[in-house]
Amino acid sequence: MVDHYDILIVGAGHGGAQAAIALRQRGFAGTLALLGNEPSLPYERPPLSKDYLSGAKPFERLLLRPPAFWNDRAVTLLPGRTVVAVDAPARTVATADGAVIGYGELIWATGGRPRSLACAGHDLGGVHAIRSRADVDRLIAELPAVTRVVVIGGGYIGLEAAAVLRKLDKQVTLLEAAPRVLARVAAEPLSRFYEAEHRARGVDLRLNAAVTCIEEHDGRACGVRLADDTVLACDAVIVGIGIVPAVEPLLAAGAEGAAGGVAVDAYCRTGLAHVSAIGDAAAHANAYADGAVVRVESVGNANDQAAIVARALTGTPEPYRALPWFWSDQYDLKLQTVGLSRPGDTTVLRGDPADRRFSLVYLRAGRVAALDCVNTVRDYAQGRALVERGAVIDPARLADPSVPLKEL
Ligand code: NAP
Repeated sequence: MVDHYDILIVGAGHGGAQAAIALRQRGFAGTLALLGNEPSLPYERPPLSKDYLSGAKPFERLLLRPPAFWNDRAVTLLPGRTVVAVDAPARTVATADGAVIGYGELIWATGGRPRSLACAGHDLGGVHAIRSRADVDRLIAELPAVTRVVVIGGGYIGLEAAAVLRKLDKQVTLLEAAPRVLARVAAEPLSRFYEAEHRARGVDLRLNAAVTCIEEHDGRACGVRLADDTVLACDAVIVGIGIVPAVEPLLAAGAEGAAGGVAVDAYCRTGLAHVSAIGDAAAHANAYADGAVVRVESVGNANDQAAIVARALTGTPEPYRALPWFWSDQYDLKLQTVGLSRPGDTTVLRGDPADRRFSLVYLRAGRVAALDCVNTVRDYAQGRALVERGAVIDPARLADPSVPLKEL
């Protein structure tokens, strides 16, 4: 007999869990299952590279809901399962353990896998990703025997991990392939600020670094070789070079791909009947990117799209137009971002980075398009409205931190 659920959610991360929560909140009374490839109950991912890695938060405090919640809401959890194929006309999925599960509606919320290095040694012992609890548990187990760490990738994962490792008194070298860190998500002043902060805390940060291989000793990583033949000796390697959206089964079933993920419309529907997609893997036209088709890799987006799909499946559809936001904690610095900055935006600096309190305002065609706020919670709170309405403001006034944004 084939198991069948009225709604089957594939992916039990932030998006999938929130979709289940929102469906029950909206009164959905049918059968509902949440399938995920990890063994744990749904948990928060952002602390993995921060308080969980540092040991400040135990796993129990990462759970999105207490264990009894799912049973109380009649959400069937299917942990440790991986969907390998989707048959949209038959409305079934096949799992790696050979099961076939039927659905009325399918919500694809699989996020992505950490991208791995393409070079020799990428799969050696001592080479770590930071994406799942298991990844970080493996890293934590090795840390007592680790003195020198090479972190590859100057995105949020690499920078947050470097900050925690310095606090744990490890020797850290951080390698970024591009000429600056955070190049994909922020403008140069923010990159330069974070580079200086990490260097001031003792991180050996190297830009334009091309990794050619991971050196091996007894099956474990013992060094990272660069294109100029420098070898950085180390006891562990952390790789944070982005994610690969986990959409292969959907694309094989005939869904259209876009921006490395799966294309969805404003209601998070894929081109396959009765199949929606949300979160990191869902490529959508985003109003805050001038309608460009993008994937937004953030918890906020996963939750917002979960709400959209729950509305659509309970008969009260509403198009997606959520304001993107992100945050990152490194050392004592709280970065909060609102909106989506794009290449070509001009920037206005509000405050002095030397004070370790400033905001970077992004303008697109004269309109406020995004803000990066470093230890300036008030700018973040007040700047949201400016991004939402695409406010046109004199850059000289924006640059004056003594004028609150809400007065502009
Ligand atoms: P990411 O944001 O894509 O950053 C990866 C960085 O590594 C990029 O700067 C990339 O440069 C660089 N890179 C790529 N290949 C490299 C190589 N071979 N050698 C050295 N550098 C290389 O990805 P991530 O930091 O791994 O994070 C993964 C996901 O988790 C993202 O969605 C991220 O937003 C999310 N996350 C978010 C937070 C937060 O919001 N606070 C915290 C942690 C993780 P190019 O761009 O030039 O390829």
